[in-house]
Amino acid sequence: MGLKYSWSSWRFLALVFVVEFAFHGFSYGEKAPNISSIQEATSAPAVAYYDYIIIGGGTAGCPLAATLSGNANVLVLERGGSPYVNTTKIRTENFLSTLRDNSPESFSEAFISEDGVPNNRPRALGGGTVINAGVYSHAETFFLKQNGMDEALANDSYEWVERKLVYKPIVLQLQSAVRDGLLEAGVLPYNGFTYDHINGTKTVGSILDRNGNRHTAADLLEYADPKRIKVYLHAVVHKITFTRKDGSRPKAEGVIFYDAKGIRHTALLKNGSMSEIISSAGAMGSPQLLLLSGIGPAPQLEALGIEVVLHQAMVGQGMADNPQNSLVIPSPSPLEFSLPAIVGITKFGSYIESSSGFDYSALSVAQTLTNHFTTNFNQDGESFMAFRDTITNLPTNLANIVEKVNGPISKGYLELRSTNVSDNPKVMFNYFQAPEDLRKCVQGMKTIINVVDSKSYSRFRYSNTTTQDLLNMMTRTRMLVSTRPNHPNSTDSLKQFCINTVRTLWHYHGGCQVGKVVDRDYKVFGVDNLRVIDGSTFNFSPGTNPQATLMMLGRYMGRRILQSRTR
Ligand code: FAD
Repeated sequence: MGLKYSWSSWRFLALVFVVEFAFHGFSYGEKAPNISSIQEATSAPAVAYYDYIIIGGGTAGCPLAATLSGNANVLVLERGGSPYVNTTKIRTENFLSTLRDNSPESFSEAFISEDGVPNNRPRALGGGTVINAGVYSHAETFFLKQNGMDEALANDSYEWVERKLVYKPIVLQLQSAVRDGLLEAGVLPYNGFTYDHINGTKTVGSILDRNGNRHTAADLLEYADPKRIKVYLHAVVHKITFTRKDGSRPKAEGVIFYDAKGIRHTALLKNGSMSEIISSAGAMGSPQLLLLSGIGPAPQLEALGIEVVLHQAMVGQGMADNPQNSLVIPSPSPLEFSLPAIVGITKFGSYIESSSGFDYSALSVAQTLTNHFTTNFNQDGESFMAFRDTITNLPTNLANIVEKVNGPISKGYLELRSTNVSDNPKVMFNYFQAPEDLRKCVQGMKTIINVVDSKSYSRFRYSNTTTQDLLNMMTRTRMLVSTRPNHPNSTDSLKQFCINTVRTLWHYHGGCQVGKVVDRDYKVFGVDNLRVIDGSTFNFSPGTNPQATLMMLGRYMGRRILQSRTR
């Protein structure tokens, strides 16, 4: 069970920790969309009227707003700043510092779920596309069927996104070895470069171009009509307000938001039944806002003194996060810097991706996720400072191969901690509560082991390091970075390994699911003039990675809404 390579175990653990944070990311934003109407919320009037008010200028919100501005006056309220102001901030090499940055200006807000797993929430114009790993891949056809979507319009909408910001990645040596290893491991056939979700191994699209520049959902605002759209930054929405006449259904009338100086503003819907408020605040933000606005389980709202507009037991329910487990593999030779360019789609429901070669020299590591980690490090008998010092001068010969469980079946919940919108809600994902999810993880880890043991992969691993050594290292590292219960013998079984070393791939979703909180037109049940369009509506995370479908959904629903306006 001991280490067979020459590095000190502590040094190795530090490396693994960083790779886990480094797994995804990067690049820098190119030029800003030429839209003069993107402004700080401090310039907003005290009261103004719009046809559509979109809460959250994120992955789904930006394409939705751009589309609606084709024939209506649109307001976008985004709590974060612009990714274009300081383009170095989102360059590839600054991915980790973005995830670790705990300042109010950070594009990432760290949180830890009740499961004890560290996680991140986007906070920028462009949402998750500003901080994510770039992988772009379509949903399975079942997703469109389950949501009653028009396939032709969905395909048109994907193409609209792709024309602006999706690229074919370069597949260098490590990614090629993983591709060939996956084929040797039986994840067949090789489907070439495709956005389609087909069993086998494929080259995926990316929103990172070949020069490493990131293209974000905010670029889609270039499609907008500048005369009809207003985007306010650092505009934090606190509440959606409703009117109700003589026992009729509540009707959304406006939102209250605060600018960076703490000044309160009100945005109201123009008169007419066509005007709407659309929450695109993401899987954490949308259920949180509905609850803060009085739509949710009455007992929870009453306990916090929130006036109940509509008792809706399902708001905040069905929260899920696809479990991610991985192996980090030290290589005898330097590896290229790579984000996932190859994806394995297994028949049993686990998706496999890899990354490699991150340059850690700029890292001083680990203010990362609160003092919470400090406590953990100390519990392990090592000082936090020693950990940080160790990690500053690291080689970059590491690869990380991850598997993500599709679905998942296990579900949890989201609840308010307080009535302050800036307090991250409490969220529990219940990873691996369903035996089916655990079974997929075990099979996924076996596939990763087969890839690492394959002939194609052999030149990127030390021959005297067994996969059992690698599993042991992962377990020890996880014990340092997670608050989950510590089971020292977890590598005795892959099941226990999965449970103990589970992480997030940040594909969490749910809370305002289709069929439970919104209908298939994404209209909130029981109230008028309010929709939710973002990842909170998902019953499962589409495709291998969700961002393609979220951007498609924004465009798709924008077109559907405009069509119904002109009828
Ligand atoms: P978001 O894009 O998060 O948009 C919500 C927006 O609402 C945010 O900008 C937020 O600031 C704003 N907001 C929230 N509350 C308020 C409020 N009260 N007032 C005003 N604004 C508010 N997916 C992939 O497909 N490929 C990947 O490689 C990939 N890697 C990832 C790596 C990381 C680190 C992360 C975090 C995610 C990754 N994902 C990836 C997942 C993907 O990016 C997200 O699922 C997706 O971006 C979510 O889109 P959304 O529209 O639901 O929400």
